Amino acid sequence: MSRFVDDFMAELTAKNPGEPEFHQAVMEVAEALEPVLDKNPKYRKAKILERLTEPERVFLFRIPWVDDKGEIQINKGYRIQMNSAIGPYKGGMRLHPSVNLGVLKFLAFEQVFKNSLTTLPMGGGKGGSNFDPKGKSDAEVMRFCQSLMTELCKYIGQFTDVPAGDIGVGGREIGFMFGQYKRIRGEFVGVLTGKGLNWGGSLIRPEATGYGAVYFAAEMLATRGETLEGKTCLVSGSGNVSQYAMEKILDLGGKPVTCSDSGGYIYDEAGIDREKLAFVLELKNVKRGRISEYADKFKSAVYTPVDKAKGFNPLWDHKAECAFPCATQNEINARDAQNLVANGVYLISEGANMPTVPEGVNLFVEKKLLYGPGKAANAGGVATSGLEMSQNSLRLGWAREEVDARLHGIMKAIHKQCIDASAAYGFEGNYVAGANIAGFLKVADSMLDQGVV
Ligand code: NAP
Repeated sequence: MSRFVDDFMAELTAKNPGEPEFHQAVMEVAEALEPVLDKNPKYRKAKILERLTEPERVFLFRIPWVDDKGEIQINKGYRIQMNSAIGPYKGGMRLHPSVNLGVLKFLAFEQVFKNSLTTLPMGGGKGGSNFDPKGKSDAEVMRFCQSLMTELCKYIGQFTDVPAGDIGVGGREIGFMFGQYKRIRGEFVGVLTGKGLNWGGSLIRPEATGYGAVYFAAEMLATRGETLEGKTCLVSGSGNVSQYAMEKILDLGGKPVTCSDSGGYIYDEAGIDREKLAFVLELKNVKRGRISEYADKFKSAVYTPVDKAKGFNPLWDHKAECAFPCATQNEINARDAQNLVANGVYLISEGANMPTVPEGVNLFVEKKLLYGPGKAANAGGVATSGLEMSQNSLRLGWAREEVDARLHGIMKAIHKQCIDASAAYGFEGNYVAGANIAGFLKVADSMLDQGVV
């Protein structure tokens, strides 16, 4: 670590104790930006990085609700409004027991760079709760979402802050939140994205993050004159991002062989084809079941439960060419990264946010793999949320082909920005440096234009 990064991180850690994920996300950015700050002292003088790492605003609130037994439950609610230099705050809501301030600050911080890369006018934000939707009835989820929105509706709006989905927040939860916002505020506006098609949603939004991560992979492969055709792909997660990453891998001729949930993973050497993928969608989106049921249904698959004592995730220990981590942060540890490399994986496109620990990132960069970090590779979701906002403002809905073509165009543009920015600073082919630098410059210049705010 350089002296600059050392000093910057020491101060940040002292000011934000107990937030390891936030420190991790900032450190990666600080390392990538050092040459940019050296070359452009104006950013240092204006303390752009110091300002970028301090949220503009943080809301922390109580979410009381009543469960089906009549017991009162209390959860924590958060909304981080990180940076609004280039547009209204935009970023998902996460419902998971692991949610805390540090996790949401890391996500909000990454969101600022990601949204900048999309070419659309969106600032960065993130929110959520430590509520666990698993095992809750639809009525419980509704009462929780209504209570959350009763407070959150004071801080968001179509021109100020537009939340969306993330882990634990899909169409059902967005529906309950939207209904409550409309009821309290008495207005039908595009205050949330990921809405249902009948009430202001966009075609392709559910597919966008997964599709985008695969479009980004295809762009990276194209730099070596290759395609996804015939390539074996390791995929983690079995939620929104994972499902549509697998669908697009199949569209482009690849073969997904794994998927997972927090209980374990399945390895299907024969490949997860369209029929099997339809089973996963029904299992996860309708029945809300566990991925172990896949191996009960399809005998070609082997299910392996999570074993924390192992110290590595066997999902990442199969022969393959490509990997698409689509579950959660730090799901690829240092040993997993080594296993991936040893098994011949040379492309990693991150559907999830920060799924790889820093040692793994360094290994992928050092080995010159085609490594697309989350803030570039999974930006298709928020980009299509931006397209949903545009359609809401226009009072129009675009056709599936039109939204998909725009998404594809945006992923190509993000790829090009990464390539160009990395080359401009002497890091050819390093998408981590490229994404951080390109994302930073647009926000930093906008902050300079707008004065000390
Ligand atoms: P999701 O639909 O809730 O699915 C999450 C998947 O990951 C589930 O299979 C879940 O298993 C698994 N998972 C979650 N936490 C885990 C943990 N601690 N350990 C092991 N497995 C875990 O969420 P999603 O929308 O697909 O989001 C997945 C990732 O993509 C997240 O990093 C999210 O921030 C990122 N992302 C999402 C979007 C979007 O548009 N949705 C956009 C950009 C990035 P269980 O069901 O067992 O918990």
